[in-house]
Amino acid sequence: MPMTSTRFFPLFSSSKEYILEREIYLDNSATTRMSEEALAVFSSVAQEHFGNPSSLHSRGRDAESLLTSARAEIRRTLGDSASGTVIFTSGGTEANNLAIFGRARAKERYRSKKILTTAGEHASVSRPLAALANEGMKVVEIPTRQGRLDSDALARECTPDVVLASMMLVNNESGALYDLAAVSRLLRARCPDAVLHCDVTQAYLKVPFTANSIGASLLTISSHKIEGPKGMGALWVDSTLVRSKGVVAQILGGGQENGFRSGTENVPGIAAFAAAARNGYEALREHNGLLLSLRKHLLVRLAADPALSSVSVNLPPVCAPHIISLTLPDIKSETMLHALSARGIYVSSGSACSSHGRHGTAALEAFGLAARAVDSTIRVSLSYRNTVSELDGFCLALGDELSKLARMK
Ligand code: PMP
Repeated sequence: MPMTSTRFFPLFSSSKEYILEREIYLDNSATTRMSEEALAVFSSVAQEHFGNPSSLHSRGRDAESLLTSARAEIRRTLGDSASGTVIFTSGGTEANNLAIFGRARAKERYRSKKILTTAGEHASVSRPLAALANEGMKVVEIPTRQGRLDSDALARECTPDVVLASMMLVNNESGALYDLAAVSRLLRARCPDAVLHCDVTQAYLKVPFTANSIGASLLTISSHKIEGPKGMGALWVDSTLVRSKGVVAQILGGGQENGFRSGTENVPGIAAFAAAARNGYEALREHNGLLLSLRKHLLVRLAADPALSSVSVNLPPVCAPHIISLTLPDIKSETMLHALSARGIYVSSGSACSSHGRHGTAALEAFGLAARAVDSTIRVSLSYRNTVSELDGFCLALGDELSKLARMK
């Protein structure tokens, strides 16, 4: 299957000249195209290993052994050589919900306790937390101005009543990489009942880390961000937490996934997710290097091109290599998104990262952007498969659209 699509796109908005161009996909943090290998695994498992892993006959055992290897594979990519549990879910959203509600409801006495989070979490973390706040838990957001966790606020809020800290490793809008190892050290020193849940959806296989290096007891990952199938994800749970029943199931039924998530497992999806994870893990250093050099190229072009001098880069002090947030001069991000889309160039707009609502706004405001700037911010998110010439094509189109939109004003 070809990995790229070819269509005709206008070279310049003002010209009637059309060139044969590949689409330029720069929205890899929204989702990725499934890799050929993951797709091949998906289809062969769906056709040839169709047994229900809970069945006792050999078809069932065959499917179950695929689940066992997929679990081991995912554990390995998280640096867990031994004892953690991998719970397969329908995606990052479900894994975040399971971690948060599963922890908050693990013990009756937790219901009046405190949860720490950051001010720029994905809605699949912030909304469950808002629901728990409505039920009487104390939820405290640690500010993340300019992409840095406020260490004074954190130190102030790390009190003995904290039972959970839910914080992302890489912010999906700004690319900020937070120092969660420092958070886990504080929690260990001051909060005897606290566990750290980390949504590593945007960090996974983009930057090197392990469960241990962060000091997290719960990790959320999502398959479609790493060239696996959509509708697949996992929650990794540390063995101590499993043994102490410090997190409890939210979907009840037949007791699959070690009792944590009932429902017949999506074996083809799980096997394909594990294949994508294995490939990404084996090439992690190489991909990280490619992303870093693509990012460097883009930043140099943005700084050097007079047509782009009005674009400001929202640069966190420490960041992942694949997410670049750009604020445009008084042009609505959605206007630019559609103009670029008409040329076959795909980015996302921070203020409306989904057609269901303005979910990216909170993260950009938490970064410190004013409401007006939030509305003019686009996100470029890279894959190691992008090329320097694609970034040049993007810069050319962005400069052209900026001058066209400025003329129209
Ligand atoms: N967390 C973060 C940081 C994300 O970027 C996303 C996806 N946009 C999710 C969670 C949700 O993952 P999924 O799409 O697999 O439900």
